[in-house]
Amino acid sequence: MVNAKLKKYAFLAILAVLFTSVLAGWNDSQKAAPGKEKARPIIVQGPMPIEAENFAKRLKNVKEEKSGDFVFYKGTLDKYPVIVVKTGKGMENTAAATAIAIERYNPIAIINQGTSGGHDPDLHVFDIVLGKRTVNLGSLKTADKEAGQGIDPTAWKPMDLMASEGSAGEDPNAEKARYYEGDKELLAAAHEVKDMYTKGKIVEGTIGSADVWNNEVDRIEWFHSKFGTSVEEMEGASAAQIAKSYDVPFLGIRILSNNKVNGGKYNPNTAAANQDYVYEVVKQYISYKSK
Ligand code: SAH
Repeated sequence: MVNAKLKKYAFLAILAVLFTSVLAGWNDSQKAAPGKEKARPIIVQGPMPIEAENFAKRLKNVKEEKSGDFVFYKGTLDKYPVIVVKTGKGMENTAAATAIAIERYNPIAIINQGTSGGHDPDLHVFDIVLGKRTVNLGSLKTADKEAGQGIDPTAWKPMDLMASEGSAGEDPNAEKARYYEGDKELLAAAHEVKDMYTKGKIVEGTIGSADVWNNEVDRIEWFHSKFGTSVEEMEGASAAQIAKSYDVPFLGIRILSNNKVNGGKYNPNTAAANQDYVYEVVKQYISYKSK
């Protein structure tokens, strides 16, 4: 009799333990584990099809979404959410695509990557610049000249549109370039996988952006000495500016597809090479975030 009662209690106790551990397990699965639906995605931007589609193809479980002309390839890499965005070329497209991505997807980080033109004579086609800093080369204030006094581009001054909410044209404190810093953790990830890239060297530098393709070597040298630019392209600074305004970690990664300064001819194959490298950077960054 006593024995039967004991058996009954033991059975009930085991049931209770089983029930609580099932509950605990269910609770765990509801928490935001890295790689699960709650993890904040990494955004990888590329302007042209050749600068985005190579990366997008390597994602798993891809779902495509569109907004305006912008295409968002939502997928996973090592089970972590990654969204490749084809932004289109230029500053306006990139700023809008960045703001939309931040509002829609709440990213943990943004990488803007693609091709660029060299400003530094020591950099060659297939070398890669990690944007320690990114700067807008189109934010300029001209000298004061009256009718008939001509145009003097080398007298133009950098202008910081983010210096204040007042008039940038009147404000002497706005006569400086605004540099957006590359995120330290993204830079660390980029350095850690540097050896996997064998088509050129990888250096830290300054990425300059504007809706301009500069082919005047003297003008390129002016930017190189005045703004410290390593390369120019048409997107990075606009993405960096918007990322900064929402406080999202940002890094520009640009491969040289051409370098007028040392005769480096345009090579479109650089676009795919850069994405292969950026893929490794993202993988490395994910390994930090999954810890
Ligand atoms: N030669 C290309 C032009 C691409 S348009 C073609 O005919 O298809 C410019 C794009 O390339 C932009 O997205 C910009 O970021 C990048 N780019 C590469 N080299 C550049 C350079 N020297 N100056 C400005 N943008 C450059």
